[in-house]
Amino acid sequence: MNRLSRYEFKRRVLSAFFPNICPFCGRVIDAREYYCAECPDLLPWVRKSLPAPENITRLYACCWYSGIARSAVHMMKFDCLIYPAEAFGIFMSEKLKDVSADALVPVPSSLLSVEKRGFSPVDVIAKQISMRLDIPVLKALEADFDKPEQKTLSRESRVRNAKSCFHISKRADVVGKRLLLIDDVSTTGSTLSALADILLENGAKEVQASVFAQVTGGIRRSDKPAKYKIR
Ligand SMILES: [Zn+2]
Repeated sequence: MNRLSRYEFKRRVLSAFFPNICPFCGRVIDAREYYCAECPDLLPWVRKSLPAPENITRLYACCWYSGIARSAVHMMKFDCLIYPAEAFGIFMSEKLKDVSADALVPVPSSLLSVEKRGFSPVDVIAKQISMRLDIPVLKALEADFDKPEQKTLSRESRVRNAKSCFHISKRADVVGKRLLLIDDVSTTGSTLSALADILLENGAKEVQASVFAQVTGGIRRSDKPAKYKIR
Protein backbone atom coordinates (compact mmCIF):
# COMPACT_ATOMS: atom_id res chain seq x y z
CA MET A 1 0.00 0.00 0.00
CA ASN A 2 1.57 3.33 -1.00
CA ARG A 3 1.34 6.61 0.93
CA LEU A 4 -1.71 7.86 -0.96
CA SER A 5 -3.60 4.56 -0.52
CA ARG A 6 -2.88 4.58 3.24
CA TYR A 7 -4.01 8.21 3.50
CA GLU A 8 -7.23 7.51 1.58
CA PHE A 9 -7.95 4.41 3.66
CA LYS A 10 -7.71 6.47 6.89
CA ARG A 11 -9.87 9.16 5.32
CA ARG A 12 -12.59 6.61 4.44
CA VAL A 13 -12.55 5.24 8.01
CA LEU A 14 -12.89 8.77 9.42
CA SER A 15 -15.77 9.56 7.07
CA ALA A 16 -17.91 7.05 9.04
CA PHE A 17 -17.80 9.57 11.90
CA PHE A 18 -17.36 12.85 9.98
CA PRO A 19 -19.03 12.68 6.55
CA ASN A 20 -16.99 14.15 3.69
CA ILE A 21 -18.23 17.51 2.46
CA CYS A 22 -17.54 19.32 -0.82
CA PRO A 23 -15.49 22.39 0.18
CA PHE A 24 -17.03 24.46 -2.61
CA CYS A 25 -20.79 23.89 -2.11
CA GLY A 26 -21.12 22.12 1.25
CA ARG A 27 -22.86 19.01 -0.13
CA VAL A 28 -22.18 15.69 1.61
CA ILE A 29 -20.10 13.55 -0.77
CA ASP A 30 -18.99 9.92 -1.03
CA ALA A 31 -16.24 8.76 1.35
CA ARG A 32 -13.81 8.42 -1.60
CA GLU A 33 -14.43 11.90 -3.02
CA TYR A 34 -12.75 15.22 -2.21
CA TYR A 35 -15.33 17.47 -3.95
CA CYS A 36 -18.68 16.99 -5.72
CA ALA A 37 -19.09 16.31 -9.44
CA GLU A 38 -20.60 19.74 -10.21
CA CYS A 39 -18.22 22.19 -8.55
CA PRO A 40 -15.18 21.81 -10.85
CA ASP A 41 -17.34 23.26 -13.67
CA LEU A 42 -18.09 26.30 -11.52
CA LEU A 43 -14.51 27.11 -10.42
CA PRO A 44 -12.91 30.27 -11.89
CA TRP A 45 -10.00 28.44 -13.59
CA VAL A 46 -6.89 30.33 -14.69
CA ARG A 47 -6.70 29.42 -18.38
CA LYS A 48 -3.58 31.37 -19.38
CA SER A 49 0.00 31.43 -18.19
CA LEU A 50 0.65 34.19 -15.66
CA PRO A 51 3.69 36.44 -15.35
CA ALA A 52 5.98 35.01 -12.67
CA PRO A 53 6.99 37.19 -9.70
CA GLU A 54 10.70 38.16 -9.51
CA ASN A 55 13.20 35.37 -8.73
CA ILE A 56 10.60 32.75 -9.80
CA THR A 57 11.03 30.91 -13.11
CA ARG A 58 7.37 30.05 -13.52
CA LEU A 59 4.12 30.49 -11.56
CA TYR A 60 1.38 27.84 -11.75
CA ALA A 61 -2.03 29.05 -10.48
CA CYS A 62 -5.19 26.92 -10.59
CA CYS A 63 -7.97 29.45 -10.00
CA TRP A 64 -8.64 33.13 -9.66
CA TYR A 65 -9.33 34.19 -6.10
CA SER A 66 -13.08 34.71 -6.56
CA GLY A 67 -16.45 32.96 -6.27
CA ILE A 68 -16.44 29.46 -4.77
CA ALA A 69 -12.60 29.28 -4.89
CA ARG A 70 -12.42 32.28 -2.57
CA SER A 71 -15.13 31.01 -0.19
CA ALA A 72 -13.34 27.62 0.10
CA VAL A 73 -10.07 29.42 0.98
CA HIS A 74 -11.97 31.36 3.67
CA MET A 75 -13.37 28.09 5.10
CA MET A 76 -9.86 26.69 5.33
CA LYS A 77 -8.31 29.80 6.84
CA PHE A 78 -11.01 31.21 9.08
CA ASP A 79 -13.14 28.16 9.94
CA CYS A 80 -9.92 26.09 10.33
CA LEU A 81 -11.14 23.20 8.14
CA ILE A 82 -8.67 20.80 6.53
CA TYR A 83 -10.75 19.38 3.69
CA PRO A 84 -10.57 22.45 1.39
CA ALA A 85 -6.75 22.13 1.55
CA GLU A 86 -6.97 18.49 0.39
CA ALA A 87 -9.05 19.51 -2.64
CA PHE A 88 -6.69 22.40 -3.46
CA GLY A 89 -3.74 19.97 -3.39
CA ILE A 90 -5.49 17.67 -5.87
CA PHE A 91 -6.21 20.48 -8.35
CA MET A 92 -2.66 21.80 -7.98
CA SER A 93 -1.25 18.28 -8.62
CA GLU A 94 -3.20 18.15 -11.90
CA LYS A 95 -1.72 21.48 -12.97
CA LEU A 96 1.80 20.35 -11.99
CA LYS A 97 1.77 16.85 -13.45
CA ASP A 98 4.39 17.63 -16.13
CA VAL A 99 6.56 19.84 -13.91
CA SER A 100 9.93 18.60 -12.78
CA ALA A 101 11.33 19.61 -9.35
CA ASP A 102 13.61 18.09 -6.70
CA ALA A 103 11.44 19.17 -3.77
CA LEU A 104 8.27 21.02 -2.75
CA VAL A 105 8.85 23.87 -0.30
CA PRO A 106 5.68 24.94 1.57
CA VAL A 107 5.37 28.65 2.37
CA PRO A 108 5.56 28.44 6.17
CA SER A 109 3.01 29.72 8.66
CA SER A 110 4.12 31.17 12.00
CA LEU A 111 3.97 28.84 15.01
CA LEU A 112 1.31 31.12 16.48
CA SER A 113 -1.07 30.67 13.55
CA VAL A 114 -0.43 26.89 13.40
CA GLU A 115 -1.30 26.67 17.11
CA LYS A 116 -4.41 28.80 16.62
CA ARG A 117 -5.64 26.78 13.62
CA GLY A 118 -4.40 23.37 14.73
CA PHE A 119 -2.70 22.70 11.36
CA SER A 120 -0.81 24.44 8.59
CA PRO A 121 -3.06 24.60 5.48
CA VAL A 122 -0.08 24.85 3.13
CA ASP A 123 1.50 21.72 4.68
CA VAL A 124 -1.74 19.80 3.97
CA ILE A 125 -1.69 21.04 0.35
CA ALA A 126 2.01 20.14 -0.06
CA LYS A 127 1.42 16.64 1.37
CA GLN A 128 -1.35 15.99 -1.20
CA ILE A 129 0.88 17.11 -4.06
CA SER A 130 3.82 15.12 -2.70
CA MET A 131 1.77 11.89 -2.48
CA ARG A 132 0.35 12.32 -5.97
CA LEU A 133 3.47 13.45 -7.86
CA ASP A 134 6.06 11.62 -5.77
CA ILE A 135 8.10 14.76 -5.08
CA PRO A 136 9.42 15.06 -1.49
CA VAL A 137 8.46 17.96 0.78
CA LEU A 138 11.42 19.99 2.03
CA LYS A 139 10.61 22.33 4.91
CA ALA A 140 13.42 24.67 3.94
CA LEU A 141 11.83 27.85 5.30
CA GLU A 142 10.59 28.96 8.69
CA ALA A 143 8.35 31.91 9.58
CA ASP A 144 9.09 34.27 12.43
CA PHE A 145 5.83 36.10 11.78
CA ASP A 146 2.87 35.63 9.46
CA LYS A 147 2.85 37.17 6.02
CA PRO A 148 2.55 40.92 6.63
CA GLU A 149 -0.36 43.12 5.57
CA GLN A 150 1.41 45.41 3.14
CA LYS A 151 -1.07 46.79 0.65
CA THR A 152 0.11 50.37 1.25
CA LEU A 153 3.84 49.65 0.67
CA SER A 154 5.81 49.99 -2.56
CA ARG A 155 6.82 46.86 -4.50
CA GLU A 156 10.43 46.90 -3.21
CA SER A 157 9.30 47.54 0.40
CA ARG A 158 6.84 44.66 0.16
CA VAL A 159 9.53 42.19 -0.90
CA ARG A 160 11.93 43.49 1.80
CA ASN A 161 9.19 43.43 4.43
CA ALA A 162 8.12 39.89 3.47
CA LYS A 163 11.75 38.72 3.53
CA SER A 164 12.16 39.93 7.12
CA CYS A 165 9.38 37.53 8.24
CA PHE A 166 11.17 34.32 7.14
CA HIS A 167 14.51 32.54 7.41
CA ILE A 168 16.10 29.42 5.98
CA SER A 169 15.83 26.34 8.17
CA LYS A 170 19.21 25.30 9.62
CA ARG A 171 18.60 21.67 8.70
CA ALA A 172 17.58 22.26 5.07
CA ASP A 173 20.01 21.63 2.25
CA VAL A 174 18.84 23.50 -0.83
CA VAL A 175 22.17 23.71 -2.67
CA GLY A 176 21.83 22.88 -6.36
CA LYS A 177 18.14 21.96 -6.01
CA ARG A 178 15.25 22.87 -8.29
CA LEU A 179 12.52 23.87 -5.84
CA LEU A 180 8.79 24.40 -6.16
CA LEU A 181 7.28 26.83 -3.63
CA ILE A 182 3.74 25.89 -2.58
CA ASP A 183 1.18 28.40 -1.26
CA ASP A 184 -2.61 28.69 -1.02
CA VAL A 185 -3.14 32.25 -2.33
CA SER A 186 -0.85 34.73 -4.03
CA THR A 187 -1.72 38.41 -4.07
CA THR A 188 1.13 40.53 -5.47
CA GLY A 189 3.73 37.73 -5.48
CA SER A 190 5.95 39.69 -3.04
CA THR A 191 6.09 36.84 -0.51
CA LEU A 192 6.96 34.29 -3.22
CA SER A 193 9.67 36.65 -4.57
CA ALA A 194 11.11 37.16 -1.09
CA LEU A 195 11.15 33.43 -0.31
CA ALA A 196 12.71 32.58 -3.68
CA ASP A 197 15.36 35.21 -2.92
CA ILE A 198 16.20 33.45 0.37
CA LEU A 199 16.36 30.02 -1.33
CA LEU A 200 18.55 31.30 -4.21
CA GLU A 201 20.87 33.12 -1.78
CA ASN A 202 21.33 29.79 -0.01
CA GLY A 203 22.32 27.97 -3.21
CA ALA A 204 19.08 26.71 -4.81
CA LYS A 205 19.45 26.24 -8.57
CA GLU A 206 15.94 27.31 -9.54
CA VAL A 207 12.65 28.26 -7.86
CA GLN A 208 9.20 27.77 -9.40
CA ALA A 209 5.93 28.40 -7.55
CA SER A 210 2.44 26.95 -7.43
CA VAL A 211 -0.62 28.46 -5.75
CA PHE A 212 -4.24 27.38 -5.61
CA ALA A 213 -5.63 30.89 -6.13
CA GLN A 214 -4.25 34.08 -7.64
CA VAL A 215 -5.79 37.45 -6.80
CA THR A 216 -6.90 39.12 -10.07
CA GLY A 217 -4.51 41.85 -11.21
CA GLY A 218 -2.28 41.15 -8.22
CA ILE A 219 1.13 40.37 -9.73
CA ARG A 220 3.28 43.46 -10.11
CA ARG A 221 6.84 43.27 -11.28
CA SER A 222 9.53 45.79 -10.49
CA ASP A 223 11.06 47.88 -13.28
CA LYS A 224 14.49 47.13 -11.82
CA PRO A 225 16.59 44.41 -13.49
CA ALA A 226 16.16 40.95 -11.92
CA LYS A 227 18.67 40.12 -9.20
CA TYR A 228 19.09 36.56 -10.43
CA LYS A 229 19.49 35.36 -13.97
CA ILE A 230 16.71 32.88 -14.69
CA ARG A 231 18.34 29.58 -15.57
ZN1 LIG B 1 -19.61 20.97 -4.68
